[in-house]
Amino acid sequence: MITGKTKKIGIIGWPVGHSLSPAMHNAALADAGLDYVYVPLPVQPGQLKEAVAGLSALGFSGANVTIPHKVEVMQYLDDVDSTARSVGAVNTIVIKEGKCIGYNTDAQGFIGALQRSNIKVADKQAVLLGAGGAARAVVSGLLEAGIKKISIGARNRLKADDFAKDFAGGLITVYDWQDQSFQETLANCDILINCTPLGMTPKLEETPPVEWTKLKKTAAVCDLIYNPPLTKFLDIAQEAGHLVINGEGMLIGQGVVAFHLWTGILPDYKIMENIFHKK
Ligand code: NAP
Repeated sequence: MITGKTKKIGIIGWPVGHSLSPAMHNAALADAGLDYVYVPLPVQPGQLKEAVAGLSALGFSGANVTIPHKVEVMQYLDDVDSTARSVGAVNTIVIKEGKCIGYNTDAQGFIGALQRSNIKVADKQAVLLGAGGAARAVVSGLLEAGIKKISIGARNRLKADDFAKDFAGGLITVYDWQDQSFQETLANCDILINCTPLGMTPKLEETPPVEWTKLKKTAAVCDLIYNPPLTKFLDIAQEAGHLVINGEGMLIGQGVVAFHLWTGILPDYKIMENIFHKK
């Protein structure tokens, strides 16, 4: 039962109606016997600063931050931890003594999902589609895990160039995804990752431009989207015989780390995972 003592956590995004995070966290909080509630907080673009200030004012313990606010939110926080700084995006806020501290748990969540599917990263080549906040977490995780080369295709080459400059080491090459040279990178790709929202509910027919016949046959194909579980992108890949994983493992993995940051307790992964298979 929610009382005056119940601690509050939320998810800030626009839209947030599709998010399974409230169900996932509320199930894990109940399982752990913690007096918390996790609520969706739809925040329109242009109202993020007020929303973050409102979290402290309303006595929230923390929040998740999702599309489209993960980069912009950094400027409204009191401090940002080193991983979030390297990713350049925040997906988790912890509020203690009125101070909002930003973290990023997506990189750890993504690499954990690859490991659970036995997809190796060290000395492999990855191709990313999209260069937004989630792609930053993916790149950060891949670099940390010893990737050999990363190619990024995006609709806006200039934005992607800026993105690549934020990561040292010279392992990233950027392309306009309509260029033939980008499609040629697929021949040596070990892990292909959709980091755009193309194909997410309700726009199920959308998919990023990939010449599937060019993709290395043994490549694993990942989509960060988890709603629907099988995007058009993953459906095509699966039909072509690739190992596919959706964004579920990353979402649960980042949620486990965030839950621990808020409560000091590690939740049961299975309890969180069950939420995805109940529907
Ligand atoms: P973001 O920061 O807004 O970045 C989105 C990227 O996709 C940008 O490169 C953007 O290009 C591109 N893009 C957006 N709409 C497009 C369109 N219509 N055509 C072509 N490119 C488009 O978003 P994000 O936070 O990175 O999230 C991306 C996806 O990952 C979302 O589907 C989100 O739900 C998912 N995600 C999943 C998890 C998980 O745990 N599974 C975690 C985070 C995110 P421009 O820069 O040109 O706009």
